[in-house]
Amino acid sequence: MLTSLGYAAKTAESALAPYTFERRDPGAHDVQIEIMYCGVCHSDLHTARNEWHSTVYPVVPGHEIIGRVTRIGSHVKQFKEGQVVGVGCMVDSCQSCASCAEGLEQYCENGFTGTYNAEEKHIGGVTYGGYANNIVVSEKFVLHVSGKLDPAAVAPLLCAGITTYSPLRHWKVGKGHKVGIVGLGGLGHMGVKIAHAMGAHVVLFTTSPGKAADALKLGADEVVISKDAEQMAQHLNSFDFILNTVAAPHDLDAFMVLLKRDGTMTLVGVPELPHPSPSVGNLIFKRRHLAGSLIGGIKETQEMLDFCAEHDITSEIEMIKIQDINIAYERMLKSDVKYRFVIDMASLAA
Ligand code: NAP
Ligand code: ZN
Repeated sequence: MLTSLGYAAKTAESALAPYTFERRDPGAHDVQIEIMYCGVCHSDLHTARNEWHSTVYPVVPGHEIIGRVTRIGSHVKQFKEGQVVGVGCMVDSCQSCASCAEGLEQYCENGFTGTYNAEEKHIGGVTYGGYANNIVVSEKFVLHVSGKLDPAAVAPLLCAGITTYSPLRHWKVGKGHKVGIVGLGGLGHMGVKIAHAMGAHVVLFTTSPGKAADALKLGADEVVISKDAEQMAQHLNSFDFILNTVAAPHDLDAFMVLLKRDGTMTLVGVPELPHPSPSVGNLIFKRRHLAGSLIGGIKETQEMLDFCAEHDITSEIEMIKIQDINIAYERMLKSDVKYRFVIDMASLAA
């Protein structure tokens, strides 16, 4: 067994604290990685605090992982020791269902294995994530990252990047489209950058007027303060697509009415409590769609990483020490992140 040191929450109420645990030794198809950086996703906070009512404690969160390969199994072909690689939200899937066959492992019909808080199918127990010094992952779920980009700022692409790239691609966003991004947090700021790079006219909706100037710098063409009814009314019936990243329950109708006929709003935020039910009339009278989307498959994650390297896209990050993770969670709850915390894992040894 491999000994790991990380940070875990022991109950829904407790702060994250140092935790020593064991992972499997790398098998023939596994890669062992020394973690350099791990992004802090709002899903980590939802899970640490059991907001989705499925957390197994102690939980070691973290699914935006960048690290260096330190050991490979005898059958590993794509990776070498010393290489810098990425790991996202999944570490395994059944590899035999129709969704896996299409490269859509996130919709695996037998349930994908999450990077943390999922069943560890090799040694039993649960999987532990990236707030730790190392991880062992099947080579199929390890990603190549470009040496041209800052590795710390690439880490958030592994979840925030793919979760926004995948729906933007699926709904074929591009030139000539008016696209809304709701919320300028970790996901939202990646959505703005990627939609802009795809050639869309991007409108950022925020509840934080102080973020407007940043949004324009990041690639938004317009910024709308979503609490201002007059500003919202100027955009009625005008959007082809809206990507909603908000992590809290809110009135979806305020955005549905901004869609054109046949327009789609896709939800990626997963708040603890439900949104108020949207109006059926708003859907019916303009044949609008309300949809959802879950991260992205491994093939598409690699495509996203390559797209970001080509367009020089990384996340705007604030680097933190792991000892400051609990403060970072409190700031995330106040929408006070510019625009993703990334843990420098060297701090774990300090
Ligand atoms: P985040 O960094 O906290 O960003 C969320 C943003 O939502 C905030 O910065 C804020 O933006 C806005 N917001 C927060 N509270 C709000 C409220 N009460 N009303 C309106 N806007 C509010 O979180 P994140 O890491 O981007 O994650 C966002 C959500 O996506 C989380 O629920 C997370 O679990 C989920 N997620 C889903 C997937 C998936 O596959 N579907 C993947 C990853 C994460 P403004 O200040 O600009 O208003
Ligand atoms: Zn995430």
